[in-house]
Amino acid sequence: EPSFVIVGAGLAGLRAAETVRAEGFAGRVVLIGDEPHLPYDRPPLSKGVLDGSRSPDSTRLRDESFYVDNDIDVVVGRRVAALRPHEGTVELADGTIVAATKVLLATGGRPRTLAVRGADLPGVRLLRTLDDAVAVASELDPGAAVVVIGAGFIGAEVAASARTIGCEVTMLEAAPIPLGRALGPDIAERYGAHHRARGVNLRCAIGVDAIEGTRRVQAVTTTDGVRYPAEVVVVGIGIVPNTELADAAGITLGNGIVVDETCRTSNPAVFAAGDVADFHSTVVDRRVRRESWQNALDQGAAAAMSMLGKGSRYCETPWFWTDQYDLKLQMAGTPEPTDDVVWRGDPDSGEFCAFYLRDGILTGAVGINRPKDVRAALALIMAHKAVPAELLADPSIDLRKATR
Ligand code: FAD
Repeated sequence: EPSFVIVGAGLAGLRAAETVRAEGFAGRVVLIGDEPHLPYDRPPLSKGVLDGSRSPDSTRLRDESFYVDNDIDVVVGRRVAALRPHEGTVELADGTIVAATKVLLATGGRPRTLAVRGADLPGVRLLRTLDDAVAVASELDPGAAVVVIGAGFIGAEVAASARTIGCEVTMLEAAPIPLGRALGPDIAERYGAHHRARGVNLRCAIGVDAIEGTRRVQAVTTTDGVRYPAEVVVVGIGIVPNTELADAAGITLGNGIVVDETCRTSNPAVFAAGDVADFHSTVVDRRVRRESWQNALDQGAAAAMSMLGKGSRYCETPWFWTDQYDLKLQMAGTPEPTDDVVWRGDPDSGEFCAFYLRDGILTGAVGINRPKDVRAALALIMAHKAVPAELLADPSIDLRKATR
């Protein structure tokens, strides 16, 4: 009997399991995750779960009955320790052998740790898992001094959630502006201003020298010699893809696990998807590794089709969002600093959209509280359409209608 083993019970893994069943696969499906929870959604962890507007349980993606009804053997709290594709098995950390005619690696990533003195003190937190979020949330009391290290999306969301609760927040960033790499300077500068206006002490172009404390964290000192008192420190400086299993099995690695256009690794019985996969993007025409919800969802499904022998070329849908305070940002496509920018609405207001054009072709859109504009832009981006700048700039024009 064929047996598909999916390593990693996150979004990509879950989506793959449901896809093979929806496609009528009659063999065994085993979904194995090392966290002690059924698959859950990560985006709320730094938003609603931290500011208290969402319960940890509400992040669960599917009820237990779903796995029973779909005959998916979901095994949580156990780690896969080795792949043996030539034997058609995987081995769990406790020595259990599981038959695996095909394997999907949906192992995601783990937070990068800070290499400074004191980084291992109690009260210094990373944020990737539900357990991490519950632990951080329990320490974010009104008035607590919180230092967030890293002003990427996770750090910025943590800062916003902590301010919403009433914590005293300092956010330290090594780059000259927060969120600069993803959003480009125009919008990133404004994000910095929003955080400052809401009382975050945002310090950019600064390094962390050490984290101080005896039994627990007490302060963070920066490379310019300033000491920031801290009851809680949250480190958000990116993730490292979990590639060790693939590596030990001799599978080719790049910036993650290298896959071909149908999500297959260098071993024909092993596939990869989600945050861990290094793939050739048809949108930007180069190899990328995405760390986004939309990619985990779509690539999980694409890998499943491939495992069934029905694979086709994976084409990513470039889509990302972040919620900070009352600012709901959505991003479609792949804005680049060298693109021409057309603004719709006042960029200094809390509601606008920036459209990015390369040779007159729409390549990206970033909107704050303009979800319909960004949705419409996504369709135009995927269609490689030339769109007149006047249409883009006029907030009274519905892009879905104007460009049909
Ligand atoms: P993961 O979700 O990381 O799942 C992989 C799982 O595999 C993990 O549970 C891991 O423990 C497990 N695993 C690893 N190795 C093994 C092993 N050997 N054996 C068993 N299990 C193993 N994206 C957005 O687009 N918008 C957002 O607003 C947004 N917010 C986010 C907020 C937070 C706090 C975080 C952490 C992420 C956020 N993301 C957001 C990113 C998005 O959640 C990820 O891109 C997505 O979860 C990736 O899914 P995945 O299935 O590839 O990997």
